[in-house]
Amino acid sequence: MTADPVAIARGLIRCRSVTPEDGGALGYLQELLAKAGFAVHRTTFAEPGTAPIDNLYARIGAAKPNLVFAGHTDVVPPGNEAAWQHPPFGGDVVGDTLYGRGAVDMKGGIACFVAAALDHLAANGGKPKKGSISLLITGDEESVAVNGTIKLLQWAAQRGETFDHCILGEPSNIDVMGDTIKAGRRGSLCGTLIVSGRQGHVAYPHRADNPIRGLVTLITALQAPLDDGSEHFDPSNLEFTSVDVGNPTVNLIPGEARALFNIRYNDLHSQTALKTLIEHRAQAAAAGCIRYTFEWQPSNADVFLTKPGPFTELAAAAIAEVTGRAPKLSTTGGTSDARFIKDYCPVLEFGLVGQTMHQVDERVPIADLIMLTAIYRRIIERYFI
Ligand SMILES: [Zn+2]
Repeated sequence: MTADPVAIARGLIRCRSVTPEDGGALGYLQELLAKAGFAVHRTTFAEPGTAPIDNLYARIGAAKPNLVFAGHTDVVPPGNEAAWQHPPFGGDVVGDTLYGRGAVDMKGGIACFVAAALDHLAANGGKPKKGSISLLITGDEESVAVNGTIKLLQWAAQRGETFDHCILGEPSNIDVMGDTIKAGRRGSLCGTLIVSGRQGHVAYPHRADNPIRGLVTLITALQAPLDDGSEHFDPSNLEFTSVDVGNPTVNLIPGEARALFNIRYNDLHSQTALKTLIEHRAQAAAAGCIRYTFEWQPSNADVFLTKPGPFTELAAAAIAEVTGRAPKLSTTGGTSDARFIKDYCPVLEFGLVGQTMHQVDERVPIADLIMLTAIYRRIIERYFI
């Protein structure tokens, strides 16, 4: 192996890129990639009310197919740094473990695909064996994700860039390297249920209309199962996360009551159909006696699935070759930038083991970094046969 994923991961961890700060992380990658012959572009995206964010797109080769590796250099804050046994931005290697914020989520993953790409180029006279290798790296994933991958993809498309397949290096494994590929994600939809009543004195309830009664009826109805799951997904779930009346007065029947909820939904639903289903259930439960409205938040987290096929088989074979494990194709967990990439090309998520991500003393075994680099290298080689 020529490129050292541990050295690259340490270099990245030492950049204090607490979202939305870049801390020099993209510059560090830019230098490394430019030296290897990549055409590297940096673009800053901004929007009113959000921090401007630096992004990076790098490509080597002009031909198809274009294999893309995607990731984010921003990290969540370390919290109380004194609670860390090893400084969060030190990149300490202790024994056989690398410590630091982003070690698994996901500077370690980026280091591995950069090292694998550099190794592939070195073994093929400085060029991809066929086609192109590209990197989409954003500094806006952990926070609001509005000036990151979603805009970087639009920017690249406007330049005429096309992508054939993408590996997103988020920590995908549950317990050990090679146990899980994420081949899709559930959708996420948030709403508020507002029940209107009539305010009044608690001693004269017949003169008032308590909206809390109606809210309880509707909450009960909406918690009924949405489905039994599908071939590749767990059952969808609606979860109420807050109930608010805002009434500090014990002898007052309030005029309005609200509840917030979030739905994680599978591929049996679209956002529009789901809203209709929820509204119909509320209508049936209200039976004309409860006055209510829904407010739906806009959502860019739609459900998607990269169906099993040649690309998933290629990735699974590379993983099996290095780890000896047959990875499970999973669609669990929260959303990721794959929700944006899926509109441009099939995307799989495969990276490190997620156990210590976002925790104090986030860390990764050196052996996992070596293994992930070997897996990415095998994926690139199989892809360009
Ligand atoms: Zn991440």
